[in-house]
Amino acid sequence: MRVAYDLHLHSCLSPCGSDDMTPANIAAMAALAGYSLIALTDHNTTRNCRAAAAAAEENGLAFVPGMELTTAEEAHILCLFRSVEAAEEFGKYVYERLPDVKNRPEFFGNQYIMNELDEVTGEEPRLLLSATGIGTYDAAALVREFDGVALPAHIDRDSFSIISNLGFYDERMGFGAVELSRTANVRELYELHSQLRGMGCIFNSDAHSLEAMPDPEHTLELEELSAAAVVDAIAAGRLSERIEI
Ligand SMILES: [Zn+2]
Ligand SMILES: [Zn+2]
Repeated sequence: MRVAYDLHLHSCLSPCGSDDMTPANIAAMAALAGYSLIALTDHNTTRNCRAAAAAAEENGLAFVPGMELTTAEEAHILCLFRSVEAAEEFGKYVYERLPDVKNRPEFFGNQYIMNELDEVTGEEPRLLLSATGIGTYDAAALVREFDGVALPAHIDRDSFSIISNLGFYDERMGFGAVELSRTANVRELYELHSQLRGMGCIFNSDAHSLEAMPDPEHTLELEELSAAAVVDAIAAGRLSERIEI
């Protein structure tokens, strides 16, 4: 089956995410726009995934629990998991490797933790934007240990991407696919970075506000509509879109 997806969304737990990006609002907006499949990928945390899974189910959407990991080199890596439990385990692992720097909400934004009733149950005290101690070359294998799949986020962007921060893509990083922004210039990537040629790719919004959630544009071919099927398809590189011209 072909499904319209957006696998990179931030909730109100990400300091840079709008306060109205509650799990219920995200799921309702995605359903209204015509998506079948969404993921929640807050910076360095999975603590709103359980609430988002419930909100997605209520809106008839399939849900992939995830995280946008910041590596030691400050490259962003999209991490997607088969289950909320696996995502939460990974969240605990990452938290232990996140510097104990306090968030300053007035400067960075609020970090609201939500429950399945879409209520704020607390605020994450530690700044979620810091670089973790996890190396870029270790991320793919690490996420696999947690039964998930990792792919370098928005590699076409000038900041916080593997290409911007390391200068190149190296296949020894072990990623089977890459994420591109919706506005990516695929031809330019193809011409500048020959290592990326032919790689499977997905296109996500990276929306931080409800207004920034676009209409569906790209689809995934899946065997079934589930988080496991999404992780399997990406891990196996079974993607219909590739970096090619
Ligand atoms: Zn990012
Ligand atoms: Zn993001």
